[in-house]
Amino acid sequence: SAQLQQLLEQAATGGSAPHAAEARCYDAAELAHAIEAGELVNHYQPKVDFASTLVTGVETLVRWQHPQDGLVYPDRFIALAEEADLIDALMCKVLHTALRDVRQWASRGHGLQVAINVSMDNLQRLDFPDFVERAALDSGVPLSSLVLEVTESHLMKNRQAALDILTRLRLKRIHLSIDDFGTGHSSLVQLRDIPFNELKIDRSFVHGAWRDASLSTILNASLEMARKLGMKAVAEGIEDRADWDYLRQAGCDVAQGWFIARAMPAEQLPAWLQDWERRRAELITPVTDG
Ligand code: C2E
Ligand code: MG
Ligand code: MG
Ligand code: MG
Repeated sequence: SAQLQQLLEQAATGGSAPHAAEARCYDAAELAHAIEAGELVNHYQPKVDFASTLVTGVETLVRWQHPQDGLVYPDRFIALAEEADLIDALMCKVLHTALRDVRQWASRGHGLQVAINVSMDNLQRLDFPDFVERAALDSGVPLSSLVLEVTESHLMKNRQAALDILTRLRLKRIHLSIDDFGTGHSSLVQLRDIPFNELKIDRSFVHGAWRDASLSTILNASLEMARKLGMKAVAEGIEDRADWDYLRQAGCDVAQGWFIARAMPAEQLPAWLQDWERRRAELITPVTDG
């Protein structure tokens, strides 16, 4: 039946896109217009240090505030942006907005690191490191407050150029993070060649790992690898208290996920930070042995 079909599709997409069946595709011209017209908005999801429960920073997650369709999530337009050569224009907007928001929070007493997602396709232009540096300098945000979360795109034009650019970004003291580690999209294990600072373990290995032997095996191996390579380990997809307790116990450094907060508009962050001050006390429990 149609209903069964919809349930199957929902299951296949992890239940995250309940209207997947009727969701329409966008074309390059629409997306180009949206970028130009300022329809892209930045949402921010907090990152929290497991040991201290202090907020270390936020990750920028772009959304398309579509005039007819409402809030459209990046899974429906990032691949298009890559294919249509719009990914640089998109990154440029996202970066400038994020830097402006970081400045705004800082002026209210909240010093935060900000992470930007970049596609490997953004790492094809030799002037990318200078572009990022200039944008940060112009907005008065120190380069050490910037994290670039790198996701491999399915296209992946020139790998060597990307590796050179990553090295140059690192020399500018910009922090580099490997996103979606463990998934097919991240064979970024040229780890030996690039000094990545952070390893983000994909949420498919995080949520529910405490009760799944194979997930927890992959998870613990990833954590050990991060430790041995001197990288900070970040777990995405901490959805509940059990995930939090398990990852904390396993020695993961930083937590991110719905248990802490969903991504939110910039103006909601100060109130959330205040609320977190009340919530975090109950999470500070000693790690037990065993
Ligand atoms: P990502 O960088 O791996 O971001 C994590 C995704 O998981 C986000 O989805 C976030 O909203 C979602 N998430 C966070 N916590 C939880 C949780 O506890 N449970 C579950 N089920 N999901 C959680 P979102 O915002 O839809 O973004 C999807 C992907 O789109 C991102 O994955 C990133 O690769 C890409 N993306 C987002 N913004 C940008 C951007 O500005 N530029 C580029 N190139 N890619 C972006
Ligand atoms: Mg990310
Ligand atoms: Mg990720
Ligand atoms: Mg992911």
